[in-house]
Amino acid sequence: MNQTAKPHLDSHMLPVFARADVAFERGEGPWLIATNGDRYLDFTSGVAVNALGHAHPHLVAALQEQAAKLWHVSNLFTIPEGEKLATRLCDASFADVAFFCNSGAEAMEAAIKMARKFQAVNGHPERYRLITFEGAFHGRTLATLAAGGQQKYLEGFGPRVEGFDQVPLGDLEAVKKAIGPHTAGIIIEPWQGEGGVRAADPSFFRALRQLCDDNKLVLVFDEVQTGMGRIGTLFAYEKTGVTPDIMALAKALGGGFPMGACLATVAAAAGMTPGTHGSTFGGNLLATAAGNATLDVMLKPGFFDHVQKMSLLLKQKLASVVDRYSSVVSEVRGDGLLIGVKAVVPAGDVISALRDEKLLTVAAGDNVVRFLPPLIVNESEIEDAVTRLERACTRLARTSAQSEAV
Ligand SMILES: *Cc1c(COP(=O)(O)O)cnc(C)c1O
Repeated sequence: MNQTAKPHLDSHMLPVFARADVAFERGEGPWLIATNGDRYLDFTSGVAVNALGHAHPHLVAALQEQAAKLWHVSNLFTIPEGEKLATRLCDASFADVAFFCNSGAEAMEAAIKMARKFQAVNGHPERYRLITFEGAFHGRTLATLAAGGQQKYLEGFGPRVEGFDQVPLGDLEAVKKAIGPHTAGIIIEPWQGEGGVRAADPSFFRALRQLCDDNKLVLVFDEVQTGMGRIGTLFAYEKTGVTPDIMALAKALGGGFPMGACLATVAAAAGMTPGTHGSTFGGNLLATAAGNATLDVMLKPGFFDHVQKMSLLLKQKLASVVDRYSSVVSEVRGDGLLIGVKAVVPAGDVISALRDEKLLTVAAGDNVVRFLPPLIVNESEIEDAVTRLERACTRLARTSAQSEAV
């Protein structure tokens, strides 16, 4: 495996990302300013991370203040800022306890381990399997990839981690059939983000809750993308009408600072005693200061009214674009500010045409373009974004008509 001479490489970063050829040096709310001075309207929010936009004054101040005092001490010691964040997240949700980590995949790993451990300490160590849904995305670690079950991501990485049974989204009979003597629980995203902005209807969530109660299974919600306000409530489960036993959070939790959390009821977390799980960096002072600052803003009265209002406006305006440019885009889906537009032409073409118009969006499965503006986006910025989309659609409609003509 030794190589004789070093090859010449344009980039020394492992080429696992197909990056756009644009770099930014500054951000202001929903705007990103590129190194060449161009201003882009950012409807990616760093993939649903920068919920409060870029350089939010309250977050900047909180992080600067913490950075001058203390960054990291490890979980050998009490971390008051973390205690405070855990208390606030539990007060605002169904949960009693929170475990802090650094990413969504880690939050889901904690959730998977917790669900299995719950069964083990309740006399059922044989119950370790988890039911998941087609189109799911739970992260890139070996276990979360197996949970997501996407063949293209699993290929070439050796035997798949055992213990996940996948069924079609919304298919209650398939879920019932998948429940066996080894089943520990069910994992679901309230809205599939990466999978193409898809959700089962509330009756399905109620049925899952009932199935879990009847069979003593653990219900796990992956709210890594939907949580922290993206759906227009602090957590998306509030809109499903049921509460999970375990919930994974990450993306927007630190407002852009890498952080994840696994929240649970004390009952579900019963097996998680000292030494059963851990993280070196998880919940350090910088991360939990960022998390607390993010919550300070989100918990202000009226914050979610604003998100719901902007959601309605964006969905209405996008629906009108879909009506007028049906050869380019065909459907608007989603909730809150997790909005997907299904494309007729390749979604990648729409995204690059939008980038030419200086509007940034994200691809998702099912040929969907995701619109993920920061939650602080205002009416005129939404109107501006839709104007850019119209310009892109006009160009794309022309090209697709031309290619049909030849
Ligand atoms: C992004 C995402 C993850 C993975 O988060 P990472 O921070 O990239 O590990 C897991 N689940 C869902 C639903 C996500 O959207």
